Amino acid sequence: MFYAGSVRTEYRLEPCRTALNRVRDMPFRWSLNPYTGCAHRCTFCYVRNFEQRADRPADDRYGRSIRVKPNVAEVLRRELARPSWRREEVAVGTATDPYQPAEGRFELTRACIRELASADTPFSIVTRGPLVVRDVDLLKEAAAHVRVCVYVSLPTLDERVWRTTEPGTAPPASRLRAVRTLSAAGIEVGIGMAPILPGLSDRPEQLEAVVRVAREAGARGIWASVVHLRPGVREHFLEALACDWPEEVARYEALFATRAYLPAAAAREITAPVRHATASPSPRGRKTVHPQPRQLALAV
Ligand code: SF4
Repeated sequence: MFYAGSVRTEYRLEPCRTALNRVRDMPFRWSLNPYTGCAHRCTFCYVRNFEQRADRPADDRYGRSIRVKPNVAEVLRRELARPSWRREEVAVGTATDPYQPAEGRFELTRACIRELASADTPFSIVTRGPLVVRDVDLLKEAAAHVRVCVYVSLPTLDERVWRTTEPGTAPPASRLRAVRTLSAAGIEVGIGMAPILPGLSDRPEQLEAVVRVAREAGARGIWASVVHLRPGVREHFLEALACDWPEEVARYEALFATRAYLPAAAAREITAPVRHATASPSPRGRKTVHPQPRQLALAV
């Protein structure tokens, strides 16, 4: 165990018994998370809900203790070598960011990518971390024979909203540079505009600006979803909101008084500018698709 960073983060080296998690009711069947917990500590992080259900802290302590699975790539190799493995898509980083700061030191995501590619297994990655470009060589190699897709999460370009709600992530401009690098390397890359925060990052011009720069950077797919506040997330998010935007608390209490998710029609209205913006021709003369939001898997 050791500590690092300005916000004191504890890293616990705890081997895993399994690497792949079976996922139900998602566009993918398997997920993989080399770490548990995320030092990015976003105020809206949906993982706080899983943490609370697992009896781990979901409040301000979330993201200060990260489980590192040092043997995850070896375990993954054994699982992928089973005769029963059907080479279905594996979603990497569904319950923690696979390119959070720990990856710079442990390189477990990189090791897992190598195993997936060697086993001819298609995979996708969701991340807010520009560190993903470190692995462009491996991703390119893998993409030559299996489907590889990287989704970079970028909900807003607004400096204050980013800094305040994502205290540990890289600036939007760095993430866009990562999109540009991946796209230039021929890797399929998309943008996940998630979560959109009513009253903070949902103005049509804010959403259209993200779509514009994402397409200029080479994003082929763009999806958007509105924040949801399940137990564990709700308490922490509302507490942070009361400190940073007290004038918005009443709006959120009204919107989420009796539910964790907005009704579909209300969510569709908020994300409509994204659909309209993606419908127009892209500056690179190719279609920008608007795939179904990739709701993130539950297993850690
Ligand atoms: S980067 Fe993703 S997993 Fe990490 S804290 Fe933010 S929302 Fe949660």
